[in-house]
Amino acid sequence: MKILVANLGSTSLKYRLFDLADGQERLLAKGGFERVTDYARAIGDCLAQLKENGAIQGEDELAAVGFKTVMARGVNGCVRLNESVVRAMEEYNHIAPAHNPPYIAGIRMFAERMPGTPLVGLFETAFYQWASEASCRYAVPEAWHALGIRRWGFHGASHKFIAERSAELLGRPEVAARVRDLYVGGPGAAVADPPLRVISCHLGGSSSITGIRNGIALGNSLGMSPQSGLPHNNRVGDLDAFALPFLMRSAGVSLDEAERILCRESGLKGLSGISNDVRDLVGQAAEGNGRAQLALEVYVHQIRHWIGAYYLELNGLDALVFTAGIGENQWRIRQAVCEGLDQLGIRLDAALNERQRATEGAIGAAGAPVRILVIPTNEELVVAREVKRHLENNPNHHTTSNLK
Ligand code: AMP
Repeated sequence: MKILVANLGSTSLKYRLFDLADGQERLLAKGGFERVTDYARAIGDCLAQLKENGAIQGEDELAAVGFKTVMARGVNGCVRLNESVVRAMEEYNHIAPAHNPPYIAGIRMFAERMPGTPLVGLFETAFYQWASEASCRYAVPEAWHALGIRRWGFHGASHKFIAERSAELLGRPEVAARVRDLYVGGPGAAVADPPLRVISCHLGGSSSITGIRNGIALGNSLGMSPQSGLPHNNRVGDLDAFALPFLMRSAGVSLDEAERILCRESGLKGLSGISNDVRDLVGQAAEGNGRAQLALEVYVHQIRHWIGAYYLELNGLDALVFTAGIGENQWRIRQAVCEGLDQLGIRLDAALNERQRATEGAIGAAGAPVRILVIPTNEELVVAREVKRHLENNPNHHTTSNLK
């Protein structure tokens, strides 16, 4: 079963093609386009590449196209992307301005180009469906909560991958199996003691931390929108709600301009005034640039803040996992995060940490109670797996219509 997973950014289209037939998971092709201004053309080029390199003979070979959709009003989990789901995504365009509009545009173009192929979205909020009510609520009136003003949590595909893979690596196959079946079967029966306690740090262009007990997320540092939680590359992270009306009243900044700055000119870029890329900041900080250093310190401070919150909620920790572009590649950030936590059982092996880059591996000191792992995430594989299940569980999917 060939499933194409399309990852749509505001100016990029990346793709992976999987063959999930016969219990095997094979990556047949991957590629992408940067600085995209014409999505229709990029989609055409993507399909042309797949044919040129022999991954598919024709587009009708694709069982489905999967999307790592971010959020939609009243929709969660893995769903067929029909007109009502896309409209529900549109309703949250202003909450996820860097994410929802490009996805919606891309989905509509795929639907036009491939009207007979099921388009299926796995929402990034799906992994937090079993988090406690208390962890999801903001202290606002009920009517606001009903509008969706609550903590949703994002990066669900990535943290789910880490939950499953870390359970395998820690010798807990029953927890890994629970995670694998989560979106189909729900949490199922309780897992026998001892509990498996994992903190997953997805550190990349967008960053978030999740505490995971026995494969189930306790919550996520991202709240109502993908601009919250830790500072991101150019998005703000957590900010006191009263900062915005203050800024608008006292500095005359319009709502549109404030939104633009919070979404494009803030985060590591805003703090440093230099770059949204941690590689640049590490380089500049080493040369004595104080603002680059400050941006990194704020970032690390916030990461530690969230690790601390989940460490407490988990009543200890079995594994601290680093993933995504920064988590997988930046040993200095990992070192700063783990600094001085030996009393909590978190001790790095400095040499292993420095060497570990872009591959899976353990970087903790021998004998330390908490395992420290680098696990490259594979969000597209999680999407493809769920799309396959969705098709299998909805045998009439060929007769269900796509978008109008
Ligand atoms: P992501 O959104 O997961 O692609 O992560 C992007 C971030 O990861 C950027 O801030 C980069 O600085 C960082 N990053 C990506 N690749 C590398 C690498 N090979 N070495 C160091 N940092 C990297």
